[in-house]
Amino acid sequence: MSRRDELAANLETVRGRIAAACGEAGRDPGEVRLVVVTKYFPASDVRLLAELGVTDVGENRHQEAEAKAAECADLGLTWHFIGGLQSNKAAAVAAYADVVESVDRVKLVAPLARPGRAVDVLLQVSLDPPGREGRAGADPADLAALAARVAETEPLRLRGLMAVAPLGEDPDPAFARLAAVHRDLLADHPGATWLSAGMSGDLEHAVRHGATHVRIGSAVLGSRPSVQ
Ligand SMILES: *Cc1c(COP(=O)(O)O)cnc(C)c1O
Repeated sequence: MSRRDELAANLETVRGRIAAACGEAGRDPGEVRLVVVTKYFPASDVRLLAELGVTDVGENRHQEAEAKAAECADLGLTWHFIGGLQSNKAAAVAAYADVVESVDRVKLVAPLARPGRAVDVLLQVSLDPPGREGRAGADPADLAALAARVAETEPLRLRGLMAVAPLGEDPDPAFARLAAVHRDLLADHPGATWLSAGMSGDLEHAVRHGATHVRIGSAVLGSRPSVQ
């Protein structure tokens, strides 16, 4: 089987899962955007995905993302940065990323705001208990201040929230908590309608709780190399 056929078959399976999850949740599949996470996979795969109708790709490491976005600049894709951000890299990320999903502290906001780059911003919220090792994302208690800062910063656009389900926990209650946090955000920022949640293993739970974007890596591209 060619790589193209393999990706096409995997995409069909994932799109079918999204459609089925939307059916069960009484949602229109057109409300859920598929972001294919291409980290650790080559630009040639990104090219095949674009040919197969993928419009949005996600990357989590700055140097790799920057190189791939440059190599694939002709494809007209929407690039999502979904990885941990350092404040000294944020300006460079905003040069190629159309959506930055991992904004979790105020310190990142000013460097992301590049003149003429109307980057879409999602605030990453932590669903882990406070103090958990390796915890990424803002504490829900700190979101209102962070949202206000993004909303007042031109030319950034506050679009919504992103989260990852906690490891080793049932994703269903975690995504229910996320949906509640999103409702609070929407009360102050009615335009912040995007909710990026759900990966290869838990997209059905995320769709049930209102995800508008799912970030799918291994279910489309296969398992990532173990040496990262
Ligand atoms: C890698 C990654 C994904 C995709 O994970 P899969 O389990 O391979 O679908 C989604 N979101 C984030 C933040 C990631 O880093």
